[in-house]
Amino acid sequence: MPITVYDHNQIDFDRPGKTIYEVGFHFDGTWGYAQVPMAVINGHGPRNKSIVCFGGTHGNEYEGQVSVWRLMHELDPADISGRVILIPRLNQPACNTGTRDSQVDGVNLNRAFPGAPRGSLTYRIADFVTTRIFPQVEVVLDIHAAGSGARFALCSSFHMVPDPQQFEEMVTVASLFDTPFVFIYSSEMASGLLTDQAEALGKITIGGEFGFAQGVDRVGTRHAYEGIKNVLRHYRVLPGDIVKIDPNRPTPPKLVSAIHLNEYIPAPYTGVFEPWVDTGDWVEAGQGLGVLYDFELVDQPGQVVYAPRSGYMLLVPFQVPTRKGVTMLVIAQEVQR
Ligand SMILES: [Zn+2]
Repeated sequence: MPITVYDHNQIDFDRPGKTIYEVGFHFDGTWGYAQVPMAVINGHGPRNKSIVCFGGTHGNEYEGQVSVWRLMHELDPADISGRVILIPRLNQPACNTGTRDSQVDGVNLNRAFPGAPRGSLTYRIADFVTTRIFPQVEVVLDIHAAGSGARFALCSSFHMVPDPQQFEEMVTVASLFDTPFVFIYSSEMASGLLTDQAEALGKITIGGEFGFAQGVDRVGTRHAYEGIKNVLRHYRVLPGDIVKIDPNRPTPPKLVSAIHLNEYIPAPYTGVFEPWVDTGDWVEAGQGLGVLYDFELVDQPGQVVYAPRSGYMLLVPFQVPTRKGVTMLVIAQEVQR
């Protein structure tokens, strides 16, 4: 049975073995609580490392919810050397409604960090992570997917960080997910991310995009689930060797970056996009990437969207419509090392 806590001081992060909690956050507009599931595992072995793994930061992204939920139930403290905190449905109200933002207060949890102790529900979840979870861990994993809208190339990801030691360790840990791409993305597109906060605190912080279209991608879920276990193995929190997750791809993940805003192409108008390229494709500058149709304009054939630069297609529209101003295409550059 899970232990339900309404007073967060009652969570014992040092309790030996595995404890499953439901962490209560009182509703803003009525009596009662949103209850966020969380497992705290203090293994029987030496305290090698402390790691937290989140799914469901966005409620309509399911690969993280599935893989972290599985690990919450499968991991045995007898095998663990260190502390593992697993929170499979961090924004539980948004997970329940299957939406990116919480329908309780309309807030996107992944823009609400560092949070606010007296803010609305989503800000209080962010504050809980910042003040209660991050002090307990050295490594932070936040499993995402593209949700609705575009299709993302399968990738683990992190922001460009100035500390070279933190950067190198993050390349290593991100590569353990064995996705075709390790993607370094721009901090300029958004602020208030869970990973922003963790990176600023010096944590080894890895995100990633493991699916799209609000489904459960089979391959993406395998990379998320096995990737988390590889990270635990890397830090000797779990015994055993690193697993090659995709045996069909002999090469290591390709390290790519889009850290400048001009690598993120917004839709010039709302329309239906016909893609001519797929995620992961290499494109040349000037190449046609697809056609954006506005079917209201009967005398217009549609506008071809051209690649402003060469690179790898990390993001391509999938669900209709593609809305004016929203990033529709991301072209990433290979990082030479
Ligand atoms: Zn997300």
